[in-house]
Amino acid sequence: MSPKPSCRCGAKAVYFRAYNGESLCAKCFSASIFEKTKKTISKYGMLNFRDSVAVAISGGKDSSSLLYVLNEVMKGHGSKLQALTVDEGINGYRDESVKNAKELAEKLSIPLLVCSYEEFFGFALDDALEQRKDKGISSTSCAVCGPLRRRSIDNAAKALGANVVATAHNLDDVLQTFFINLHSGDTERIKWLSPAYKESSENFKLRRIKPFLEIYEQELAFFAYANNLPFQSESCPYMNEGIRTEIRTYLNKLEQSHPGAKYSTLRTVLQIANGLEGSLPKKEIRTCSKCGSVSTGEVCSVCKTLVQFQ
Ligand SMILES: [Zn+2]
Ligand SMILES: [Zn+2]
Repeated sequence: MSPKPSCRCGAKAVYFRAYNGESLCAKCFSASIFEKTKKTISKYGMLNFRDSVAVAISGGKDSSSLLYVLNEVMKGHGSKLQALTVDEGINGYRDESVKNAKELAEKLSIPLLVCSYEEFFGFALDDALEQRKDKGISSTSCAVCGPLRRRSIDNAAKALGANVVATAHNLDDVLQTFFINLHSGDTERIKWLSPAYKESSENFKLRRIKPFLEIYEQELAFFAYANNLPFQSESCPYMNEGIRTEIRTYLNKLEQSHPGAKYSTLRTVLQIANGLEGSLPKKEIRTCSKCGSVSTGEVCSVCKTLVQFQ
């Protein structure tokens, strides 16, 4: 199948979807993203009537698209929509994306809460990462940042009174995470990829949803561009440190020579994750002895990270 000059509606085609042979105009392309997101939300029962949803936005293309799409598809749904942004403190990178996040939220008239590592943990990410050498800490940047970011998102969502947190993880993100955990043997984290996965603790009042689970990263980039969304194209300066970059390259190559390969891999990954969700013994959920948050161990991953930098 090769690209055609016009869309099914007769307008000029601007996007070719190699995995199903569709040539689409910008309008029909955007409509297909709205449709796909709606389908994913209903297929996995992501939203209930009267939910209060906080969308974590970073000012990047994926999360800007998510806020834009949810604002549209949740109309008349009876749910509340708010946004939150976490400023990790990455010099020369985060300032611009926070500005974009604010601009978009304002344009859509959605309340936005901006919070920072500085205010939650007392330091900027740049400062913590710089201390690693002196303190002999070998963790990668993402390993340090990840737990802090999740905790910040939880804190901000609670401050907004939300019961659901929507993140912009797309099909590519989910596949990459699967392969990373496949290599490291972390079956517990593979289980977490299941959209059916629910935290078993009563203490845990936040539900996490990924409405872009079935959408290619490349399509979100085009969506943001086609809808003129303000977004930062530069990526995080710390992102090239891990195995994720190699896996991304591998998956992109695979998709190029076998269009649709990512999508069929996702179906398999979700089946594996669902199977694990049903068969792995439930880990006992405890309360962190330091901060009182929900934890699988004596001390939670955030407190373990923080203690290294004290
Ligand atoms: Zn069209
Ligand atoms: Zn803790």
